[in-house]
Amino acid sequence: MGQTLTEKILDDHLVDGELVPGEEIGIEIDQALTQDTTGTLVWLQFEALDLEEAQTELAAQYCDHQTYQFDFKNTDDHRFLRSAAGKYGAYFSRPGNGICHQVHKEHFAKPGKTMLGSDSHTPTPGGLGELAIGAGGLDLAVAMGGGAYYIEMPEIVNVRLEGELPSWATAKDVILELLRRLTVKGGVGKVLEFSGPGVESLTVPERTTITNMGTELGATTSIFPTDEETKDYLERLGRGEDYVEIGPDEDAEYADQITVDLSDLEPLIATPSMPDNIVPVREVAGEDVEQVIIGSCTNGAYEDILPSAKMLEGREIDPTTEMIVAPGSKQASEMLAREGWASEMMAAGVNFSESTCGACIGIGHVPASDSVSLRTFNRNFEGRSGLEDDKVYLCSPEVATAAAIAGEIVDPRDLADELGMDDPGFELPEEYYGADTDIIEPENAVDDELIKGPNIGEVPLKDPMDERLEGSALLKMDDNITTDHIIPATQDILMYRSNVPKLSEFTLSRVDETFADRALEADGGFLVAGENYGQGSSREHAALCPMYLGVEGVLAQSFARIHKANLFNFGLLPLEIDEETYEKIEQGDDIEIVEDVAGAVRSGAEEFTVRVNDEWEATATLDASDREREILADGGKLPHTKMKYADA
Ligand code: SF4
Repeated sequence: MGQTLTEKILDDHLVDGELVPGEEIGIEIDQALTQDTTGTLVWLQFEALDLEEAQTELAAQYCDHQTYQFDFKNTDDHRFLRSAAGKYGAYFSRPGNGICHQVHKEHFAKPGKTMLGSDSHTPTPGGLGELAIGAGGLDLAVAMGGGAYYIEMPEIVNVRLEGELPSWATAKDVILELLRRLTVKGGVGKVLEFSGPGVESLTVPERTTITNMGTELGATTSIFPTDEETKDYLERLGRGEDYVEIGPDEDAEYADQITVDLSDLEPLIATPSMPDNIVPVREVAGEDVEQVIIGSCTNGAYEDILPSAKMLEGREIDPTTEMIVAPGSKQASEMLAREGWASEMMAAGVNFSESTCGACIGIGHVPASDSVSLRTFNRNFEGRSGLEDDKVYLCSPEVATAAAIAGEIVDPRDLADELGMDDPGFELPEEYYGADTDIIEPENAVDDELIKGPNIGEVPLKDPMDERLEGSALLKMDDNITTDHIIPATQDILMYRSNVPKLSEFTLSRVDETFADRALEADGGFLVAGENYGQGSSREHAALCPMYLGVEGVLAQSFARIHKANLFNFGLLPLEIDEETYEKIEQGDDIEIVEDVAGAVRSGAEEFTVRVNDEWEATATLDASDREREILADGGKLPHTKMKYADA
């Protein structure tokens, strides 16, 4: 039987297990990516493991999430990251040089390679044939140390693209259509592998918009085969030598197939406050828009901004609407400036922001109260913009720009009819250039020792799991609790990312302001949640901080993949419960796991008895591999890996 593209790359990198869906496999990692909010912990963990040098073919440290240096903390973190990159042999992308996925795509991503990144949108370079997976920082630290990355073998789903995009429909509409059909849970446990005649009609940056937002479907990753378009894109980047032709065998078998006829698509929009609340733009036309932002790792490339610039040429944005462009990389900013497009946009009323994540995580450009903001980003979880009850819509740069011109949501086809405006199309530059000085290569590193400021602490370690596990239900939550709910990513909070005791004070504060105090006082206990607990980002603080506060486990109806891995990594027991049990447990109930927990975890027990208030019992299940069980019982991956190294 032939292999899918995903199977071929995994097979090339397999060090443990077999490629059977649901079985755990270990793979070798070629490239490592980390950013500033997760990177400090990655390197502190790398240090705690007594590792000397990154063993991957390439490691890259970006500074993109927290680049506003309000006080010394972010600046100290950036200096620490530069020193860690220097000491351990990683590339260092300076603050303001751009968003990790955009810069990585421009400089380093290679077809056929495996990449692990401590950021949930790591799958972005799947658009040029790299198998890129988001993971927790500790998994990344271990992979950079030369250890295998372990993952449950996903199902491979074929997304067959047919036809070509009609006027004013874009790559963003392809992924919004998939979100409309599959929802934010539709890709869980799956790799989406694209194929079909429609693929060749899409340039690589259009493909990376789709693979970037495959994350919103919950997919492990998304990938395209390579072809003349891939070769052409790499040549324009000046990296033609990185091209390799890769694709599935003709007789490859997939677990499922989805067909999208590109010619049927029209401009779509995600309405507040989930990326799968998709409707045609015409359905919400007429809604006043006070803010429009173009940028992020989804639509922040030079060629994403170019259509907007063309639409704005010789026009002005509506006086009631503010329009901000935050290019995804400084290279994109420089090219827009040198080609004259930045000045066209400024003349139309656009404000340029620095090349960072910024507004995507509520750092700057917070919408006005009770106002609509249209963004080209990938997520619109409630409150992520920095405004608690925000109204953030997600759309293509074309739809966003049309709204900026009209002052209200409008289908760009209708605006084009009214203004006699042509579809700007999607065009790549002849060549990409600029911003070379903003990446420091390992051989030119300026530091060879770690530099730690006063806000950079130690990584807390958990003791091995006890026989007895009991405590109260500290907090009961609904479905779809995100890592943003667990540890908000706003500037005032995330500046403590390297200071776990301080950061922990904000744990779940968006759900219950008193949570951290109550948890510390209780000295142990459980979280209770509905479906899809921990969706969103790879933020390992969302497991580390509850662990620091004494949380022992989470009882949920289901877990998001990366967060569940992080719970294992920090020694928190993730037990699945059914709906009836979830409904019956009340916040404050006394919970006891009846079995010798450490022993049962190690011996492979799948069912655990949960006794509540000494009155009733229910069964909860632990879905974990032997390796995850050892990690859990040892108190998490850090103590587990240290023990392994000590035994070696
Ligand atoms: Fe940055 Fe937003 Fe992309 Fe995350 S999703 S990497 S915060 S731009």
